[in-house]
Amino acid sequence: MMDCVLPSRSGRTGQLFTQRGVINIKNSRHQDDPRPIDENCSCPACRNYSRAYLHHVFKSHEIISSMLLTWHNLQYYQDLMDCIRNAIRLNLFDKFVDEFYASRAQGDIEPL
Ligand SMILES: [Zn+2]
Repeated sequence: MMDCVLPSRSGRTGQLFTQRGVINIKNSRHQDDPRPIDENCSCPACRNYSRAYLHHVFKSHEIISSMLLTWHNLQYYQDLMDCIRNAIRLNLFDKFVDEFYASRAQGDIEPL
């Protein structure tokens, strides 16, 4: 994972990883959405920018969209690895796996 292109390549194409699955910021459902990509994410893209803004800068081919979306994806994988390491340390990996897939099965938040 340390040398993987997945977070940046996906970010550059508008694909974002969240606890509730993969979303694509290109979709028109995000164009007026004031909420962050993932309310539980601590990355600067989620703390400072709305889905609407990220949708706009992506559609406008602004380079900052690649930077912000990559930033989010890197934070997602950092957080995921922290959770995996913690679950293994506490001998709760099976529980983590169940919760991980249950969360992903929810899908993205409902459109506004
Ligand atoms: Zn984020």
